[in-house]
Amino acid sequence: MEFAKRVKGLKPEGAYAVLAYSQKLEARGQDIIHLEIGQPDFLTFPDIVEAGVDAIRTGQTRYNPPAGVPKLREVIARDAGIRRGVNILPEQVVVGPGAKPGLFFPTMALVDPGDRVLYPDPGFPTYEAMIVAAGGIPVPMPLLEENDFSLDFEAFDTLMDDRVKMIILNSPGNPTGGVILKADLEKIAKAAIQYDCWVLSDEIYSRLIYDNLSAPSIASLPGMMERTIIVDGFSKTYAMTGWRLGYMIAPVPLAERLALLMTHAVGCTATFTQFAGIQALTGSQEQADRVVEEYRKRRDLMVDGLNSLPGVSCRKPQGAFYAFPNIRKTGFSSQKLSLKLLDEVGVASLSGTDFGKNGQGYLRLCYATSPESITRALERIATCLGQIV
Ligand code: PLP
Repeated sequence: MEFAKRVKGLKPEGAYAVLAYSQKLEARGQDIIHLEIGQPDFLTFPDIVEAGVDAIRTGQTRYNPPAGVPKLREVIARDAGIRRGVNILPEQVVVGPGAKPGLFFPTMALVDPGDRVLYPDPGFPTYEAMIVAAGGIPVPMPLLEENDFSLDFEAFDTLMDDRVKMIILNSPGNPTGGVILKADLEKIAKAAIQYDCWVLSDEIYSRLIYDNLSAPSIASLPGMMERTIIVDGFSKTYAMTGWRLGYMIAPVPLAERLALLMTHAVGCTATFTQFAGIQALTGSQEQADRVVEEYRKRRDLMVDGLNSLPGVSCRKPQGAFYAFPNIRKTGFSSQKLSLKLLDEVGVASLSGTDFGKNGQGYLRLCYATSPESITRALERIATCLGQIV
């Protein structure tokens, strides 16, 4: 029996595959430090949990409109608009179960078979997977370490033409932690307008930014709101990965199409989860801000430690919660070193190649874990590298 072409090439996400393998090792009694999966180690903040539980108790357990609970759409429009310095209408907001639907549904709504879509490499693996599922042609857009993992604009200029239907951006980025600065966004915006294409701007890490930097949204540049889909959510900022709550913000006619896809694909997003989301955005932001400061300390611990290891160099990432060290001088490929660290010293990491071919020569280490675990992981990596470099 044949499968459709759109699913034949689908691959698992590296993070889930390594997590499954490392859990097997744990079941055999090995002590593993998990730096592979990208999720906060904090529990969801108590006031948000309370709002969710209260919503269940008071009967918010029925269907709601496919684009989301009206109050949440309103609150998101206000919050997302203020943070980006743009005017957003509630009708532009479509709520979904996580940020991932905000990547998948716009791609389905905009990309026809044969359309070219530019996406960051190294980048979040879902981008390529969904372009392929939509029948589009995935065109990897290299990011440069020398450029703090913003785009390689020489390559970008050669890739842009009028066959490009959409450009995917992710700033702050997974797996690099890189931030695309305003001057670079202006170059991308100019090309998007010149070639009349859409921009899907994955801003899921927009609140995880350090050193008083800001990660501007391309939507805030002149002429861009009408061709940009902003994707954001609650998973990372509010430690709500398992609640499944995110959103997309698009021009109204596109938002209406996206709501139709939601109607037919999932019906609607869990109602009580959305009430928890209203609390997350309208309640005190003190916990969310405190957590960012905690991640900054962990970032410094991780990056300083990595830079003291033989054969390893690591730029200081300005956002998200990933370090992306260059390991070329160890003499190992990314895949080999990642496996060696797991098998020999029980440190679970991801190979840079899980994020595209330009990830060769790098590892991704998530530092959203306790400082004690980071310190122990660094000691173990040092032991492993000390023996081989
Ligand atoms: N976009 C990026 C860049 C991510 O790293 C992730 C999760 O790791 C997502 C989107 C998906 O977020 P969610 O869990 O809210 O669907």
